[in-house]
Amino acid sequence: MSSYDIVILGGGESGTGCAILAKSKGLSVFLSDSGMIKDIYTKELRKAGIPFEQGAHSEEIILNADKIIKSPGIPEKAAIIKAIREKKIPIISELDFAQSYSNAKVIAITGTNGKTTTTTMVYELLKKAGLNVKLGGNIGESYAKQVAEKDPEYFVLEISSFQLDDSYSFHPHISILCNITPDHLDRYGYEYQNYINSKFRIAQTQTDKDYFIYCIDDPDTCNNLNLLPKEVNKMSFGYFKKPETGAWVENKVMYLTDTANKIYLTMNTENLALRGIHNTYNSMAAGLVGSIMNISKETIRESLANFENIEHRLEYVATIGGADYINDSKATNVNSVWYALESMQKPVIWIVGGVDKGNDYSSLIPLVEEKVKLIICLGVDNTKLHRAFSKHVNMMLNTSSMQEAVKTAQRFAENGDTVLLSPACASFDLFLNYQDRGWSFKHCVKNL
Ligand code: ADP
Repeated sequence: MSSYDIVILGGGESGTGCAILAKSKGLSVFLSDSGMIKDIYTKELRKAGIPFEQGAHSEEIILNADKIIKSPGIPEKAAIIKAIREKKIPIISELDFAQSYSNAKVIAITGTNGKTTTTTMVYELLKKAGLNVKLGGNIGESYAKQVAEKDPEYFVLEISSFQLDDSYSFHPHISILCNITPDHLDRYGYEYQNYINSKFRIAQTQTDKDYFIYCIDDPDTCNNLNLLPKEVNKMSFGYFKKPETGAWVENKVMYLTDTANKIYLTMNTENLALRGIHNTYNSMAAGLVGSIMNISKETIRESLANFENIEHRLEYVATIGGADYINDSKATNVNSVWYALESMQKPVIWIVGGVDKGNDYSSLIPLVEEKVKLIICLGVDNTKLHRAFSKHVNMMLNTSSMQEAVKTAQRFAENGDTVLLSPACASFDLFLNYQDRGWSFKHCVKNL
């Protein structure tokens, strides 16, 4: 049997994009997915004349390939990956593959929380500055597919740790590591350090012409800076600490320096479009990209002041009976809920729960004691939540559907309260994904 230049495992956004790019570069390519491929992708594959299979992996084809590209969702422990590793067929990442065909400068953003918000902020900023820029990675259209279409001058890419795992040559000009807190540990042998190492791979090829931006308040980032190439230029941002070069806040004013450590811009934090300390971090990180790239102060200020919030991230839904309803369905871990609760100014009715990913809730207890008047659990199994919070709040109730949760919230909500959906958990016990959960919340709120 003739072998393919490349076999791609996984027929989602990333795999289909890689297949299209490979084909457009004249490589022989085959795509294999052990599950069913969505219609939009089978259509694209057929249109491009790319052979594929779904529902099973044909080992005789896959194990004969010269190279494999693995979609980030496929774990290392999958049987097919073990067989590929045994045969020592090189596995490359979409990031390495796509960049080998692109001349665009890359700004890459990773972190446990804040990736989508920060990536979108940077993209909007560059667009406002009139640059030829595309947005991709873990967000929107895949990097590879966009490289196949037309190379822009800049790519702003949201990068997950899974995407970095098989990446060796990927080289961003500017990388941002928003923060690191425990997440996805099931994919990292339950070793937090493995997850940290994976995040730092974003900067592994950076040189003295490149920039690495990180959060100086984040201990797990700061304790691992030795993982960086020595020569990369570092800039950092802090809300509680003040970095030498980078961004900080003093008396409600945000300061950004340039790369030579001179103050480049100041801006009143009250003028930032997005509220909460976490969003101030994201704004500082995006602002620093602007400072490195010499984007005008006016453009940076305007962009950070007019940024429109993204759906499912502390998204205001409605005010009903004097109570605000807020959709933070994307808060799928404890750290993002911490920032959500921290930013709440009014008494909170907190809707929480779903599939617990091994959460340690203890960091939330002081905020719950200070701000939460009622916890509404929304999950198939709520025992861990009860164990964590029952001593720290006046009342906890169980619900088993979004409608029941929202109606219960309304029953207890008083004028001046906030009803916050911020689940700290994955969604797939009751919903398809976090979007489905957020839409369901908004739908139920609008029907009150
Ligand atoms: P990601 O793409 O990394 O999941 P998002 O921007 O989608 O990040 O935000 C996910 C959740 O985390 C939301 O609930 C959001 O309010 C919260 N969040 C956003 N930025 C930060 C940050 N810098 N630190 C902690 N939580 C954040």
